[in-house]
Amino acid sequence: MNAYIYDKLIFEISKAGRKGYTLPPNDVPFRHVEDLIPEKYLRRTPAQLPETSENEVVRHYVNISTKNHHIDKGFYPLGSCTMKYNPKVNETTSSMPGFRNTHPHTPEQFSQGALELMYELAGMLTEISGMKATSLQPAAGAQGELTGLLMIRAYHDKQGKPRKKIIVPDSAHGTNPASVTFAGYESVNVKSNKNGTVDHDDLAKVIDEDVAGLMLTNPNTLGIFEKQIVKIEKMIRDVGALLYMDGANLNALLGITRPGDMGIDCVHINLHKTFSTPHGGGGPGSGPVAVSHRLEPFLPVPRVVKENDHYRFNFDYPDSIGKVHTFYGNFGMLVRAYTYIRMHGPDGLRGISENAIINANYLLARLRDYFDLEFDSPVMHEFVLSGSRQKAMGVRTMDIAKRLLDYGFHAPTIYFPLIVKEALMIEPTETETKETLDAFADAMIQINEEIKTNKDIVLKAPHTTPVKRLDDVKAAKEINVCFKE
Ligand SMILES: *Cc1c(COP(=O)(O)O)cnc(C)c1O
Repeated sequence: MNAYIYDKLIFEISKAGRKGYTLPPNDVPFRHVEDLIPEKYLRRTPAQLPETSENEVVRHYVNISTKNHHIDKGFYPLGSCTMKYNPKVNETTSSMPGFRNTHPHTPEQFSQGALELMYELAGMLTEISGMKATSLQPAAGAQGELTGLLMIRAYHDKQGKPRKKIIVPDSAHGTNPASVTFAGYESVNVKSNKNGTVDHDDLAKVIDEDVAGLMLTNPNTLGIFEKQIVKIEKMIRDVGALLYMDGANLNALLGITRPGDMGIDCVHINLHKTFSTPHGGGGPGSGPVAVSHRLEPFLPVPRVVKENDHYRFNFDYPDSIGKVHTFYGNFGMLVRAYTYIRMHGPDGLRGISENAIINANYLLARLRDYFDLEFDSPVMHEFVLSGSRQKAMGVRTMDIAKRLLDYGFHAPTIYFPLIVKEALMIEPTETETKETLDAFADAMIQINEEIKTNKDIVLKAPHTTPVKRLDDVKAAKEINVCFKE
């Protein structure tokens, strides 16, 4: 590649007078900007915009896009994140003019299609989760957690018995205790037992009438199903508390079992994980919450209701916690998730989870002789290896993760969950072929060999990426000076 041209900033490529666009003819009466915007808001110097031809812009961004790893470029086994392939048909449907050009202020009678889609999607998520009702508003899983906790708070307030604590297992995602604190509760830790599930004796010790609820991830972040969920639910009910499920791992359960059948009161669903909408840089997230009859009165408003084949927003829920997002959530993501669910249908959805589970277990079977496994229980859609054996040879999990980049793979999630030493959390998802899984397993095994024969190559990795080892903390704080010597 010609680094001289393609490593430049777009501002360095810029040449005055070059143009990559033409505007359509004006179809409204011409007005001078000075007549429309008060003088004090007008800029005095022209905006500093780069001027380039169309092909320069296209090449610039295509080249940048290949410097990062992304799901359209390669395998992305980032545990807990469900980095499945995002089908392109989702983009086709979400860019249909009727959806794309709808303004959030469009009157209800002119946005019936959009409302119908929201109504149906909420219904499908309610059915998939086995709950009573769903709000599509939260913008991410973490915001779904906060929404759920605020509803739990409203529930106890309504009973006239406000409470103080939420129990969170030690294997939970960091967002769980963070959301608990955000919602004004105290987060109480409960330990995992040797099978990697909730320790009931420890749970019995921390449970009392001050507990508002328990946040459980199922399957948990070790990829292990909480088999004693019914017993846990009973313990929670006995003190009048509620059960929240972190549904980030729903990709393991579709059509197989439902949170509602496990006695859950609230579950968030990450559309950017289970339902194939883009993650992070690909667009905004979406974290709908589904609730049981206990929490239904407290759902955010507005809710879309159907009356005589007409859809409308209903704000009339006196116990609602209110709005948690501007307008109605990230609508474009709702169209993508709706498309994905309708494309698969009930049997297809079950097939997704079955294949996600098969893929994870296949990879685990290929890797288990080479790495340690601290919790050796049957896994669902992901598993967590430990790099302790490699650490004893002087190579940390961080080094293994960096070396994987040289083989063209995104690294797994590392150092999470916290209860596994030198953790490598691997989630292949159902969208990968056996050939891809084998190539990844081969790379992991090869790296394990390198640790014995050529340790330096692992310790100094990555060697093939546009930038080498970054100072991870500094990189987040000082964008420009983040390279280690
Ligand atoms: C991803 C994830 C979250 C947070 O969801 P976001 O959509 O990233 O906010 C919470 N819990 C678990 C287990 C997760 O994997």
